[in-house]
Amino acid sequence: MKFPSEPFKIKVVEPIRRTTREERDRLLREAGYNLFHVPAESVYVDLLTDSGTSAMSDNQWAGLMLGDESYAGSKNYYHLEETVRSIFGYKHVIPTHQGRMAENLLFSTVVKPGMCIPNNIHFDTTRANVEHQGAQALDVVIKEAYDPHCELPFKGNMDLVRLKDTINRVGRHRIPLVMLTITNNSGGGQPVSMDNIRQTRELLSRYHIPLFFDACRFAENCFFIKEREPDYASKSILDIARELFSYGDGCTMSAKKDGLVNIGGFLSLNDDQWAQDTTNMLIMVEGFPTYGGLAGRDLEAMARGLREVLDEDYLSFRVGQVRYLGELLDQADVPILKPIGGHAVYLNAKEFLPHISQDQCPAQSLAVALYREYGIRGVEIGTVMFGKKDAATGRTIHPELEMVRLAIPRRVYTNMQITYVADSIIELYSRRERIHGLALTYEAPVLRHFTARFEQLEERPLVQHAAS
Ligand SMILES: *Cc1c(COP(=O)(O)O)cnc(C)c1O
Repeated sequence: MKFPSEPFKIKVVEPIRRTTREERDRLLREAGYNLFHVPAESVYVDLLTDSGTSAMSDNQWAGLMLGDESYAGSKNYYHLEETVRSIFGYKHVIPTHQGRMAENLLFSTVVKPGMCIPNNIHFDTTRANVEHQGAQALDVVIKEAYDPHCELPFKGNMDLVRLKDTINRVGRHRIPLVMLTITNNSGGGQPVSMDNIRQTRELLSRYHIPLFFDACRFAENCFFIKEREPDYASKSILDIARELFSYGDGCTMSAKKDGLVNIGGFLSLNDDQWAQDTTNMLIMVEGFPTYGGLAGRDLEAMARGLREVLDEDYLSFRVGQVRYLGELLDQADVPILKPIGGHAVYLNAKEFLPHISQDQCPAQSLAVALYREYGIRGVEIGTVMFGKKDAATGRTIHPELEMVRLAIPRRVYTNMQITYVADSIIELYSRRERIHGLALTYEAPVLRHFTARFEQLEERPLVQHAAS
């Protein structure tokens, strides 16, 4: 079967409300056309993010009841430690409340001002944590990653030639570690091949530079390796994960993705000195090393989630569901980013709305229309998120890509709901010329997409200031 049906049945349901177009139109006005300010209760299918939005299994919920809330030495910590060691293989396991805290602990310990961290593409919290140390976050992904039409099986790969040049240019002593984000979230959820990981390792070994994984979607990456790299077709996901992590020295993890939990993360690594230093920091900012900012029950749910995510029936459904949405859209000629990634489908707003110039925020306009007409919430990844003001001219420098990301939560929506999403977008595409642009009316100095406000352009009076 090409798109496997759900490998689970539903035991608990959460009602979702249908709203009217009038209601959504009012909510959009109140939200200043920013979907982060629309109440989740008024969203029918919420594809804002796949982070922390997973449905836990009965086995994970049962685990919550076995939470050992002891301050020190909780049995759930030992279960998590054993689970992480058996999959990731690193010596030290440091729990954190989510991924960015693992990044913060690692970078505040090993990165000094003037240093440089290469990655395929830094996720935004990773970049922020590197830059916060006064260091440079460099993206060294293969150049094809920036072409929305180029179909490569492993479009998240590191560009090894550029990595080598970077090391020679910057100097080994200014690179405390290199990261690889699997799958490459900011580049469309594209996987990295085992071959590329092995070659990255070989290159770094020559310079004695450690390799760390940003492992948020490691199981999805391993699934792509099994599917696309012939040597791995008959290997289990667990064996693929073990080999993959054996090429690294540690990882940061947001368990809100492939940990199948609503909160949780960890840092895992081999180096004793780094582990000691990050643990000391952990005690200061998160908590004692056997709970790290979480309840014992959260550690248990995470340990169980990390096992469940390796299940191949689960993964083929998961990656298959994302692909199902992407292929329905592609067959109807709706412009999407290709190939379809592991956790999300990206609508190419520049091609969807060629009549809206980048000054008028085409991706934001598309996301707003999708919510207004159908109650579906995606997220803008374009000018609003990445546009930068040129200090000299005051004009906005637009990013190359203008996308709406539809991230699919894990085990949450049925294929029928996903079909509804596809049908809605296909219908919207047939009426695309009726979608108008938006004008930005407020922006914060940093991370402006969270608080920006807009007005709908066709609503503006044609002559604004008649006599001023
Ligand atoms: C989500 C994410 C993070 C940060 O994790 P949080 O749990 O949100 O703090 C880091 N890297 C990648 C690739 C992510 O997707």
